[in-house]
This record gives sequence, C-alpha cells and structure tokens, in this order.
Amino acid sequence: MSDNFHTVATQLVEAGRALHELGMVPATSGNFSALLDNGHIAITVSGRHKGKLTTDDIMILNPDGSAMDQRKPSAETGLHLQLYKRFPSVRAILHPHSRAATQTAAMTKDKIVLQNYELLKAFGGINTHKTKMLVPIFDNDQDINRLAGVVESYMQANEPIQAYIIRGHGFYCWAESVEAVLRHCEALEFLLQCEFQTTGLTR
Ligand SMILES: [Zn+2]
Repeated sequence: MSDNFHTVATQLVEAGRALHELGMVPATSGNFSALLDNGHIAITVSGRHKGKLTTDDIMILNPDGSAMDQRKPSAETGLHLQLYKRFPSVRAILHPHSRAATQTAAMTKDKIVLQNYELLKAFGGINTHKTKMLVPIFDNDQDINRLAGVVESYMQANEPIQAYIIRGHGFYCWAESVEAVLRHCEALEFLLQCEFQTTGLTR
C-alpha cells in the first residue's frame, strides 16, 4: 500500500463530510478520488453515504482502473480515469450531485458562462472577476465509458475547462489537491446558484 494512503483517504472522508454539510451529496450520491504517491488511485467504494464515510470506504485502484480488492469502486470510475489520464497535474477529483447541477435537467443549453463574479478567483489561475469561465453541460448517460468518450472528445477540441456538469445529475471538479478541489466545488455550486437565480433556469 502507498505510504500516503491513510492521509489521502482521510482527506476524502473529510471532503465528504464538508460536501454533505453543504447539501451537495444527498442520499448515497457522488464519488471522490485522489492519486496516491505510487500512481494508484484512492476512490470511494460504490454506494456509500458520502457524509458518513470512514477510511474503510475508500479503496485502491491500479493505475489502469482495476480494483486491488473484491469491492466495487464507484460506478463512475471511468470519468475519474479519463481526467487523470488527460491531466497529469490532477491529483484529486470530486463529483457531487449538487442542487444547482441537478437543476440543469430542465435546461436545453449546453454550457454555462460565469463572468464578473469575484468568487471566480477561487479557481486556480484566475485572479480577476473580469474573466469568463465556461462550464460545459454534457447530457447524462448511464453508459459511463460512452460518457467519458464524450468528455474526452470535448476536451480535445476545446479550450481548457475547470469543471463540467452532467445534465440533471451533478458536476465534476478536479485539481492538484483535495483541498483545492473542495474549494472549487464549493465555489462552483455557489456561482451556479447565483447564476440560475439571476438568469432563470431556462436561459
Ligand atoms: Zn454521479
């Protein structure tokens, strides 16, 4: 086992508690992962309540995504693997089923553009409100490998993004640490709620 498994698993447990307090992982929804020092991936076991996690609810995957024990990793493991493969600097991924992301079920548009918000500075590389942050919305799909292919194709063809929404489902954020990605999740949910209250859900 990697030297830093316990540290990383504890960070994921604490992230679950924080996101649950924010109402972003209702029921047993959401999944989290982080990269270990040896290149393996710590990820939440499928079906666990994210507000009540212990480190026993975090399992280890080989870099190719195969499980190192008999337990079943998150059903959305393929989306985590796509992000780690695409971005070598990414070390943590959080996927909440937040209220704002869920509300996109009613929308037909394929992106949200956040601009002029001071809180955009919570994201890496942004140091002014005078910027535009584009968050694509991908249609939900129960076939996770197919959805991962859609995300990968989008990323190959478009400007870099900091997060994406799966329509009516949740969003994905990634960063270089659990602490950073938790900040991104909290900021994104706040901004999406502000945006939807201002513009309405259908615009
Ligand atoms: Zn999900």
